[in-house]
Amino acid sequence: MDEARLDAVHEARLWKPLATGAAGQNAKVQCRLCSHFCAIEDGERGICAVRQNQGGTLNTLVYSLPSAISVDPVEKKPLYHFLPGSRTFSFGTMGCNMSCSFCQNAQLSQSPRLGRPVNGHILPPQALVDAALESGSKSISYTYSEPTVFFELVEDTARLARGRGLKNILVTNGFMSPECLDAFGTAQDGLIQAANVDLKAFTETFYKDQCGARLAPVLANLAHMRTLGWWLELTTLLIPGLNDSRAELAEMAAFIVRELGPDTPWHLSRFHPAYRLLDKPVTPTETLLLAREIGHAAGLKYVYIGNASGVGFGETRCGACGALVLEREGFQVRGGVPGGLSGGHCSSCGVVVPGVWS
Ligand code: SF4
Repeated sequence: MDEARLDAVHEARLWKPLATGAAGQNAKVQCRLCSHFCAIEDGERGICAVRQNQGGTLNTLVYSLPSAISVDPVEKKPLYHFLPGSRTFSFGTMGCNMSCSFCQNAQLSQSPRLGRPVNGHILPPQALVDAALESGSKSISYTYSEPTVFFELVEDTARLARGRGLKNILVTNGFMSPECLDAFGTAQDGLIQAANVDLKAFTETFYKDQCGARLAPVLANLAHMRTLGWWLELTTLLIPGLNDSRAELAEMAAFIVRELGPDTPWHLSRFHPAYRLLDKPVTPTETLLLAREIGHAAGLKYVYIGNASGVGFGETRCGACGALVLEREGFQVRGGVPGGLSGGHCSSCGVVVPGVWS
């Protein structure tokens, strides 16, 4: 193990011993961080490959070891109803608890599982928060790979960030354990204020075959997140022939309305062949438009089309009167919308447009 990686090893949180070895140490441990609940023998790693049982103690291998760092528009997460037009300091480590065949960040997320070295830049929480403030960001986003697997770094950074007036955003697949969610706490008193969650499909088959995971915990966690008061937006990547049937999209939209509410923004994203899923075509525009129609028909007020350009794909219209309140070009918010938003209210009809606007 090289020096940088040793610096990043840190005792994990949310684990328990399962069995005691001959010398009295914990031979086997269970990680309680995500819904895989891996039982890990001494010397072995969990499914994400960045948490290892080292002599009966579960360690994270990626504490203070971000591999990807950038300052992004918050719209890129995507969050359209949370501090629009602001910058968010974004980072992620290696590792992921899913193995999506269509992963857009496979080099980051899947490398440790493939036996490649776990590496990055040594940057402890304090340095990350200082860099976020220097960049003029209003928030920190835990993103690029799955933040659940670098929970300890998220927790410590988010706590410091809150103390310095920054918001914290989780961009997640939603497969964490209930204990992990509770550790993040409520938007008001806890660490996380907003999340974009991938709802990748609405069948267990898709989650099992394409992602090596399960749908049920994701659905339960979405409802749990709602009770924590986080600002929540969802993203679905529409993959031709795998998750884009009319029936599946209608079920998904009905779930969002029923469990999370009709004000929950839903981002429909265009698929491009990536990683191991190279034999599916780019999502046709007609599919994206049909999915948006299905979302609206189910009662969702804010349905966006992403990864594609088209008239009105990224604009926010008042859910009550339909007036244009925010216009976007790519990830940029355009100024000069007539009417627009005034203190979080539609300037045309005065109704509250849900979100965190300032
Ligand atoms: S985070 Fe999930 S995948 Fe990784 S070791 Fe823990 S339970 Fe397993």
